[in-house]
Amino acid sequence: MPGLFENAVKQFEKATRFFKVSDDAKKTLENPKQIIEVSIPVRMDNGKLEIFKGYRVHYNDILGPTKGGIRYHPNVDMDEVKTLAFWMTFKCAVVGIPFGGAKGGVIVNPKKLSKQELERLSRGYIRGIYEFIGPDIDIPAPDVYTNETIMGWMADEYSRISRKLTPAVITGKPVSLGGSKGRDDATARGAYYIIREYAKKHNLDEKKLRVAVQGFGNAGYHIARLLHDDGYKIVALSDSKGGIYTKTGSLHPDSILKVKQEKGMIDGVYCRGTVCDDIEHEDVTNEQLLELDVDILIPAALENQITEKNADRIKAKLIVELANGPTTIEADEILFKKGVTIIPDILANAGGVSVSYFEWVQNRAGYYWELETVQERLKKLMVMAFEEVLKAREEHKTSFRTAAYIYASKKLVAAIEAKGTEEFFRRG
Ligand code: NAD
Repeated sequence: MPGLFENAVKQFEKATRFFKVSDDAKKTLENPKQIIEVSIPVRMDNGKLEIFKGYRVHYNDILGPTKGGIRYHPNVDMDEVKTLAFWMTFKCAVVGIPFGGAKGGVIVNPKKLSKQELERLSRGYIRGIYEFIGPDIDIPAPDVYTNETIMGWMADEYSRISRKLTPAVITGKPVSLGGSKGRDDATARGAYYIIREYAKKHNLDEKKLRVAVQGFGNAGYHIARLLHDDGYKIVALSDSKGGIYTKTGSLHPDSILKVKQEKGMIDGVYCRGTVCDDIEHEDVTNEQLLELDVDILIPAALENQITEKNADRIKAKLIVELANGPTTIEADEILFKKGVTIIPDILANAGGVSVSYFEWVQNRAGYYWELETVQERLKKLMVMAFEEVLKAREEHKTSFRTAAYIYASKKLVAAIEAKGTEEFFRRG
């Protein structure tokens, strides 16, 4: 069976059928530039030494220094990190920011580590990849199970080693350590701007739209909150332990977050003792959540959630991929034939990297922006990218995903070919 990476490359290959691409550019974009694997020794609280495995992949840097998050998860592997770095390459091109694509990961279940162990691991990872990153080389950021505190430790470790305060080496830091205002909800906010544009273009009554969100972390919580505040009906939410669903009302993301923070789960503990006690709800599994009768389905957790096994049973008319790679290539085709619109990951969740770019710019300039400026500029980037992808979709009569790859690939291909192709050199 083809792996995650092989399937991701097929998304790019599909796009190259729509315009002329040299073999040189194709080959370049089908292979990662460089990969590093590190062993991270961590002294555990009980005195034992544990070695964790970490990766960092620079996929392609033709458009700028590489950029991409760091994931802490027990299922991290090289194939996944490489694929996420591949997607980052195209994502940065879609929103037109001057970055290439990268990604990092550590094989670890961070929920089993104490805060002290987590700090030692995070600093150890930076010591391992120190030469591989830098404000003009590669700039990491948060991803699944990493957060702003971890980014703060990492930026600090980098600065200690280089004996130079270097905030621009990492984005997604706490605002007090040079982070950007508005980075916390940027991934969700980017998707939120696109959903609202989509609703406007299709004359949808936003107050009637029923939404299910899989994953209740940075991306999932904030999208639920933003849409809920605008009157969308959040009918289902889930995290790794399970989910909840209401047929009649709308779930209240802030109350659920409070419960989750207190109890560590949202499954079966909905709004106990809060304002929304009276909303009828039932427990659902993550699998059931995907198949609910909703208007908008937002996967905001991990890869490969919508597959050929459940694609036929998906009832949502619009899927907005806040997660990276939640839909397999087979499921993508089934859903396209069914008439389901998918706003693909490389467009839908590009808000995070966009504000990461703003953070990097602010760190380098030493000039910090107000929240309104960040949000205004983010909206402009997202709406522009959405319009461009829409144009490509109409021109080529294809899916949003292929259109986004066409639009991004054209920029990457043009840059690669500007250095000369086989045809150019053969002519002497
Ligand atoms: P996070 O660690 O903040 O949250 C992850 C959430 O997913 C948690 O609520 C967790 O309980 C849930 N989860 C884990 N396994 C699950 C499962 N099997 N089923 C259902 N839920 C599960 O991570 P995040 O930053 O919100 O990232 C979520 C997705 O968004 C990832 O695919 C990530 O790559 C993507 N993304 C994140 C950013 C960002 O800036 N954080 C940017 C772009 C894309």
